[in-house]
Amino acid sequence: AAAVADTDTIAAIVTGAAAGAVSIIRLSGADAVPIAQQVFQPAGGGRAAGNGWEPESHRVYYGRAVDAAGATLDEVLLLAMLEPRSYTAEDVIEVHTHGGGVSAQRVLQRCLEAGARLARPGEFTLRAFLNGRLDLSQAESVAQLIDARTVAAADSALAGLGGGLGREVQEMRRECVDLLVEMDARLDFDEDLPPLDVPALVQRVARLGQRLERTLQTARQGQLLRAGLQVALVGRPNVGKSSLLNALSGTERAIVTDIAGTTRDIVEAGIVIGGVPITLLDTAGLRDSGDLVEQIGVERSLAAARQADIVLMVVDGETGWTDGDAEIFQTVFGAGPARGERGLDSDWGSGDEGGGGEGASSSGGSEGSNGSSGSRGRAPALLVLNKCDLSVHRAQQAQQHGSSAQHESRAGSCDEAAAAAGVPAAAVAQFAAAVQTSAATKEGLEDLRSAVLQLAGAPQLASGGVGWAVNERQAEALIRAQEALQRVQASIADELPLDFWTIDLRAATLALGEVSGDDVTEEVLDSIFSRFCIGK
Ligand code: GDP
Ligand code: ZN
Repeated sequence: AAAVADTDTIAAIVTGAAAGAVSIIRLSGADAVPIAQQVFQPAGGGRAAGNGWEPESHRVYYGRAVDAAGATLDEVLLLAMLEPRSYTAEDVIEVHTHGGGVSAQRVLQRCLEAGARLARPGEFTLRAFLNGRLDLSQAESVAQLIDARTVAAADSALAGLGGGLGREVQEMRRECVDLLVEMDARLDFDEDLPPLDVPALVQRVARLGQRLERTLQTARQGQLLRAGLQVALVGRPNVGKSSLLNALSGTERAIVTDIAGTTRDIVEAGIVIGGVPITLLDTAGLRDSGDLVEQIGVERSLAAARQADIVLMVVDGETGWTDGDAEIFQTVFGAGPARGERGLDSDWGSGDEGGGGEGASSSGGSEGSNGSSGSRGRAPALLVLNKCDLSVHRAQQAQQHGSSAQHESRAGSCDEAAAAAGVPAAAVAQFAAAVQTSAATKEGLEDLRSAVLQLAGAPQLASGGVGWAVNERQAEALIRAQEALQRVQASIADELPLDFWTIDLRAATLALGEVSGDDVTEEVLDSIFSRFCIGK
């Protein structure tokens, strides 16, 4: 692994690869100013490079970038941010050049000739961390902000950058250290101190455990905001899949990147639900209703469902359940129970959802119980009764939906509507919930959005409340801290000697320090920052 801390002056082009009107080269380190003095000549300044020009911090200079012989490489703006008032807390010089490529490359090359070294991925942010400008969780938030695909993901990263997560973890770590100090004192000078107040200690450890649990609960939200979801619309032609896709895409569009296993016959739309970037997979426009087309529809539905995290089976609520629906249902849902991986079943099937939840306890599936080893199983699913504006069962729903209606009764009413539309009970039971929608009037779309978030395990996102969230690395360390605290509790309960308590308390402290950056190895730092882009 590369040496984490060195005193080289580093340089990189920090603007994106896409062609723009301006590119920025950033220099950071003790030689940033001497290098700038070789590379830059301020307008109206002395003829010879480096003659007497000293940049003032937070001032912008206009002039020329020059090669070793003094020939012009570009007309540039230079911005000086001298230590400690810079991103890295070192001397930072930024040179703004014209265009996307050639000028920036030439000026960068010149900076390297003049003594800078090309920055490694994430090295500017690494220095910000090493110099105490950011704690480790803030540094990781920088990467998350850069990678954010939705406004909510950016907000969540900003909340992390604001230090909320870092403070929380540091406070928990400090509490661990305080507890350790009290115990260690007893180990060292047993006779001089009053005996440990064990009940108070037990309470403090328990409170710490609860706090860790609350922090960990943000992990699912974070994962969804970063990775998003694949949601497949399946159903026979003309039930309104494409119309639903359009109705749902009405608001914010997600930036869809790089989806593995894309099938050409499947239309993808990037949408955002509760801040979660969602790729909607729709079977491509099948208009006629010949047998062949029906058959293709079935196959495409299956293909879409196979690559999805959540499946929406759309049924025409006006015509009700047909043989065609039964065929698609059999093809897509016939093979075994839903999978419970990625925690997608977390809230459904907990038994407190009333009528609608009951289907979930059999289909939403309990984690680990979906036998068929090796096979991926199918994604959890929602039944969507579309065209409810035309459906005769709609009046019933409207009544049930009265302003103060409870979620349970709505879910119940949707199950009733499913039954009334002729959906067999055995089929209804395969879905986590049934939702009535109208792509035409937009009725029920909010219910559909929150049912998707609920099924994805992040119902709180439906209300738009986005805060900081722990990432996978942080969650892994926090779980280790939690387990260590549980061992402390067990040691206390079993009345084991005091040094058993302190061993695990020390482990918890170290695990928390891996998140805050107080106890982090060079190896971990390397792996975190190597995932950044060069220039960050
Ligand atoms: P797909 O083949 O499943 O994608 O179905 P489409 O989205 O192409 O819709 C088929 C027809 O049903 C179109 O004429 C739509 O305008 C109509 N349609 C779709 N959703 C609704 C709805 O909720 N209410 C009404 N009244 N018509 C709808
Ligand atoms: Zn369609």
